[in-house]
Amino acid sequence: MSRVIVRKASYEYRSLKKHVFEMLEAFIGDAIAGNSRVVIKPNLLAPAAPDRAMLTHPLVVRAVAEYVLDRGAHPQISDSQAMGSFRKLLQVSGIAEACEGLDVTFKEFEESVEVDVGEPFHRIHLARDAMEADLLINLPKLKTHSQMLMTLGVKNLFGCVVGFRKPQWHMRTGIDRELFASLLVKIYRTLRPAVTILDGILAMEGPGPGKGGIPREIGVLVAGDDAFAVDAAVCEMIGLEPERLLTLRAAMNTGFSAGAVEREGSLPRIDDFRLPRITPVIFGPPWAHGFLRRYLVQRPVVNASLCRLCGDCCKYCPAGAITRESKAVAFDYDKCIRCYCCLEVCPHGALKAEEPTLGRVVAWSMQKLK
Ligand code: SF4
Ligand code: SF4
Repeated sequence: MSRVIVRKASYEYRSLKKHVFEMLEAFIGDAIAGNSRVVIKPNLLAPAAPDRAMLTHPLVVRAVAEYVLDRGAHPQISDSQAMGSFRKLLQVSGIAEACEGLDVTFKEFEESVEVDVGEPFHRIHLARDAMEADLLINLPKLKTHSQMLMTLGVKNLFGCVVGFRKPQWHMRTGIDRELFASLLVKIYRTLRPAVTILDGILAMEGPGPGKGGIPREIGVLVAGDDAFAVDAAVCEMIGLEPERLLTLRAAMNTGFSAGAVEREGSLPRIDDFRLPRITPVIFGPPWAHGFLRRYLVQRPVVNASLCRLCGDCCKYCPAGAITRESKAVAFDYDKCIRCYCCLEVCPHGALKAEEPTLGRVVAWSMQKLK
């Protein structure tokens, strides 16, 4: 039976460290050996300050690194960011400063090993450091995601797909969110971190996962030996049916049961947590798909007054659907697969996911007819 520990928490370091140490002791106290190499995988996708709630908070990362050092092991903090340098990311995120004075290795995931994750994906490349670590610690952020609804424990490990292989996988799974969710589940099950600690102290709600998301104080840390159990606890906390989180649905189809999780500590109940609005990417008869996608379905849009034409979104878009125009970027919605990678990488918060006006009118009318 898997186990989850929930603690009310803040970023006040003494109490935070106490909670993190207790959680790690409960889950890896027996497994961590002196001199072992422990890879810590926070959410470090793109440079952002802690108050944006995009990344795992630097003090959570510090507390985990301190625990690993206390146990005589060696902590390595790693991820594969989408844009910019890893050094800059460590500075902007506050992690470099938070870990000052600790004997920690910071290392971007660069090298991959090929693993066979089975049907239908078979061979995929995952970060060598994560695959070959003596222990892997997963440190996700509690935040929303305009394609996958939420990005929690299971999805955090997509960061172990190195560099531009990430958008390539988005492209290969295309507009099929369920297929992408099953890829995330395969990656999680291949890497199998020893423990997941989710930072839900300052979470993100609304149109995440990038700077368009809205920070929201929830004040909770959730830890578990199984990230599915951690993600299921978050669903319960925010009143989200677990089947709506596609990674959990895929896990439930292959044996995971949220009922078979032992829980210690009480979950707060958040009744008004704002999820991103997600519409089907494709529906209706095939002859109408082009029209429906163009005029009814949610898509990325740019706020031209915030766009600085840096080109990061154009470089990262797996579908080649973004071009620079004179005042802002423009989208080819026929090519766009609605992965929302562009929202995640935009350093200026200029992008958000939005339904076209006609789509909003149709959704409103259907709601009235119910
Ligand atoms: S435009 Fe944005 S949402 Fe569309 S495919 Fe490119 S990165 Fe993904
Ligand atoms: S939308 Fe964002 S990432 Fe894209 S060019 Fe404008 S500022 Fe850069």
